[in-house]
Amino acid sequence: MDAPPAVRRLPQPPPVPVYAWRFGKAVLAALWLAAVVAAAAYGVFGATISVGLPVAALAALLAWVGAGVRFAQLGVFARPLLRVQGVRGQLALTFDDGPHPVHTPKVLALLALHGHRATFFVIGERASRHPALLRAIVEGGHLIANHSLRHQPWTPALPASQLAREWAAANRTIAEATGIFPRWCRAPVGLVSPPVAEAARRCGMLLVHWSVTARDGVAWADRERCWSRLSRGLQAGAIAVLHDGVGGENCAAVDLLPRVLDDMRARGLVSVTLDELLVSGPSQ
Ligand SMILES: [Zn+2]
Repeated sequence: MDAPPAVRRLPQPPPVPVYAWRFGKAVLAALWLAAVVAAAAYGVFGATISVGLPVAALAALLAWVGAGVRFAQLGVFARPLLRVQGVRGQLALTFDDGPHPVHTPKVLALLALHGHRATFFVIGERASRHPALLRAIVEGGHLIANHSLRHQPWTPALPASQLAREWAAANRTIAEATGIFPRWCRAPVGLVSPPVAEAARRCGMLLVHWSVTARDGVAWADRERCWSRLSRGLQAGAIAVLHDGVGGENCAAVDLLPRVLDDMRARGLVSVTLDELLVSGPSQ
């Protein structure tokens, strides 16, 4: 596991992003405008105006922004990859929040046993502690992607410059260990704001979300409920999320994976990396 990577391709030019945040600037401008109107309604600028309408407009805008951040699939601030259409017999299993010194090797062993390839969205700070694990992932034929430097839940509220700096540091860690710069990134908790989209663009990375999640990102996740959520979305072209980086002695992803792989075999599905899935299908 500690052998140097077979291929070193450092540095590698960043990929060209295929999207940019669409409505972010318009939404922020509207928010500022609504805030000014609301302030006027309360007499901040002297004369008062009717309160009801501007406050309602501000509340509606805030709800829209909140929904855009929470539900990335709505495409309010960016259009992350959700699934790949036109694919037969393939999906992309993705694993978040690692690498984990106990759980990640178990996941790698299970995937190798069944001939699957996956994409691992690693957290930069954890990656820096486990470079050999990063190399084991790559040597297993899998892809490594960026899941931020520190996985802060309040990431959507941070400035793009800070996020870009941190995510670039995570990319350097991954590249120094494996020789490969990540092309994909997934925001912590999947929360996408204008700064998140802008940081991904500055780092030359493509945002990816998911089409189905087990919601197994906590150690106490109910395995049956996780399976129930996941099994409905195990289809060709899907991007499925599990978490190999959470849990103490037990990890829901490790517990669930044999069942997931058995089900995929019954459905004639094999997992490939995100890059391979995109080659197989024309569009998202
Ligand atoms: Zn995560």
